[in-house]
Amino acid sequence: MLSIIIPAYNEQEVLGEFYARVTAVLDSMVSDYELIFVNDGSRDGTLPLLEKFAESDPRVVVIDLSRNFGKEIAVSAGIDFARGDAVVIIDADLQDPPELIPEFVRQWQNGFDNVYARRVSRDGESTIKKVTAYLFYRFIRMITNIDIPADTGDFRLLSRRAVDSLKQLPERNRFMKGLYAWIGYPAIAVEYRRDPRYAGDTKWNYWKLWNFALEGITSFTEVPLKVASYVGGFIAFFAFCYGIYIIVNTLLYGNPVAGYPSLIVTILFLGGIQLVFIGILGEYLARAFSESKRRPLYFVNKVLRK
Ligand code: UDP
Ligand code: MG
Repeated sequence: MLSIIIPAYNEQEVLGEFYARVTAVLDSMVSDYELIFVNDGSRDGTLPLLEKFAESDPRVVVIDLSRNFGKEIAVSAGIDFARGDAVVIIDADLQDPPELIPEFVRQWQNGFDNVYARRVSRDGESTIKKVTAYLFYRFIRMITNIDIPADTGDFRLLSRRAVDSLKQLPERNRFMKGLYAWIGYPAIAVEYRRDPRYAGDTKWNYWKLWNFALEGITSFTEVPLKVASYVGGFIAFFAFCYGIYIIVNTLLYGNPVAGYPSLIVTILFLGGIQLVFIGILGEYLARAFSESKRRPLYFVNKVLRK
């Protein structure tokens, strides 16, 4: 059985077309599937429309969240309700072509747990969005040691054990793209051209995207904290050296400005000490942070035993 998860927030213009296309693909392909629509607090006609689908089609499940929680959480809710042997996550706006699902299933049957779609092009999006997305993926790959594939979104298929692993990650800040990569397991990309939105508007703006980027960076790396402690240590080292130079210089040759040497040495010393201790705090904070995520230590792909 296949579960399809569709987060939907104010998508009344596209859902009819989406439903028609996705059922056309699935009917010709699998015998048993469920469509899990997660209504993420929509304020338009999305919910009545979904209720209509559910009435006429027993394979439709509608999860109506109490308010708008954002896509990441809507997807997590869908994952909690999914009963299938494999789960497909797809946007409602038809930017992710449902016609790719048969290919996903084929790769899953080949033994891949995480079959993700990689866009080779994104039509209908502004240059700034493309450039910022490009830079973001490169940057986050550079500073984290988990392998988040570039140019991929949530559109993917996950096997049952990948989904169960994902459900074991109890953290509240759910940067899904990172989590899919964090759980590991055999993964493979399927390439596709990303279509423009079928109708309606994107729910993202640059402020939201910026916060999303921060979320990704802060939940997957302690590098910013470490940078603080190294920069602090570095500056403190030079401050101490300069302080010693002033002391020695004053003792040997004197200093024409009364009070200057003692003042500057005190300032450098206190500033340096503070930076060093902030760095130490940063190191402890980084560890407390990683403990507080309470992630499982590992997942096993397979055990070989004779
Ligand atoms: N979405 C959601 N909650 C939100 C924002 C978006 O469930 O708060 C859903 C939306 O209905 C769509 C998917 O997430 O199915 C992707 O959203 P969108 O197309 O706006 O993002 P973009 O494709 O522009 O990145
Ligand atoms: Mg979209």
